[in-house]
Amino acid sequence: MKAEIIAVGTELLLGDIVNTNAQYIARRLADIGIFVYHQSVVGDNPERIKKAYEIAFDRADIVITTGGLGPTKDDLTKEIAAEYFKKELQLDEASLEIMKEYFLRRNQPITTNNKKQAYFPEGAIIVKNNNGTAPGCIIEDNKKTMVLLPGPPREMIPMLEEVVLPYLSKYQEGILVSKVLRICGIGESAMEDLISDIMEKQSNPTIAPYAKEGEVILRITAKAKDTDEAERLLLPVEKELHNRLQKYIYGEGEVSLEETVGTLLVDHQLTISTAESCSGGLLAAKIINYPGISSVFMEGMITYSNDSKIQRLGVKPETLTTYGAVSKETAAEMAEGVAKAANTDIGVSITGIAGPTGGTKEKPVGLIYAGTYIKGKVYTKELFFKGDRQKLRNFAATQTLCWLRW
Ligand code: ATP
Ligand code: MG
Repeated sequence: MKAEIIAVGTELLLGDIVNTNAQYIARRLADIGIFVYHQSVVGDNPERIKKAYEIAFDRADIVITTGGLGPTKDDLTKEIAAEYFKKELQLDEASLEIMKEYFLRRNQPITTNNKKQAYFPEGAIIVKNNNGTAPGCIIEDNKKTMVLLPGPPREMIPMLEEVVLPYLSKYQEGILVSKVLRICGIGESAMEDLISDIMEKQSNPTIAPYAKEGEVILRITAKAKDTDEAERLLLPVEKELHNRLQKYIYGEGEVSLEETVGTLLVDHQLTISTAESCSGGLLAAKIINYPGISSVFMEGMITYSNDSKIQRLGVKPETLTTYGAVSKETAAEMAEGVAKAANTDIGVSITGIAGPTGGTKEKPVGLIYAGTYIKGKVYTKELFFKGDRQKLRNFAATQTLCWLRW
């Protein structure tokens, strides 16, 4: 069974909202062993919606749409589905009753537009919507299955979980089992270079890397008839990936970098403080994301100006004039300074040029130094990032956190 997802809505096309529905549905279909081969997005335009259905059913057995079930004129998904399957729209009395009650409870009149939501293509299975007014439906015709769901995730998700997935599970073919490896300290393409031969020779399991906020996620997915077979397929590939990438893998599954570093600090009972310039507190914010951190995280300073670096951290004025605020020398003194000021085992610092202006030939935008002071010793690391200011700040914080793991 091949499935396809079509998200309907001009706001998705314009980039005003993110297509989280497709992501959610694809993942849940995979969980029941139905494979999504294509996803698409189409605006609220009747011709293009119809064309999207035609293309989808040319290559898929199951098509799931989200959006366009509302009461307004541009909500056309269901009307066009009826046209596509050459079925009349018929009033469903039960849906109309539920809708009337819904409006009665809110003391609002029900409009003709709303009533349109109680009409469904002849023979469709109606999917109740307990969190909104637009019911969905399932149309089965000539070995093709179409599922129409509303756009708002809080309405769509329960309908998918409670009705659609149980219904579709009759088409299940085997299962998909995924393992997630979490990687930091290496970029996506550099990592792909390290494992490209493994990726190329592999078709089951498949290996899919993607970059996410300064980290790389590697999803390994096996298609199998049961979990035992899936494990057998996954194990050797996981082992090989671990061998190649060992020092970059910080965790598996749902674990976060903050949690990994936080756990290490708590386990070793090492107290920590931070002094940040260009990252503006993001490193501290990330560390504090880990709920267990309070016993070891003592203080975070944002020492943005030179004066503040001198006064709060004891950075030497000569260091700033000789090497500049963005230098390994300054990063080192910042790290040591904050550890001493906050009386912690570890002091971590970040200083860099976040741009978009302020770069020079010797010190371009994107140049970052991180420093770590631990037990009387200071280490520094040079980092470089190409991208906008926000991404750079995030990169600086994430890479420093990743570095702390060692
Ligand atoms: P409504 O009755 O609210 O009009 P609808 O089924 O007509 O529902 P749309 O009008 O297409 O749905 O979208 C309504 C809202 O649902 C959007 O403004 C957006 O917030 C959310 N939404 C729609 N599609 C998606 C999607 N693919 N991913 C995430 N959110 C979505
Ligand atoms: Mg709508």
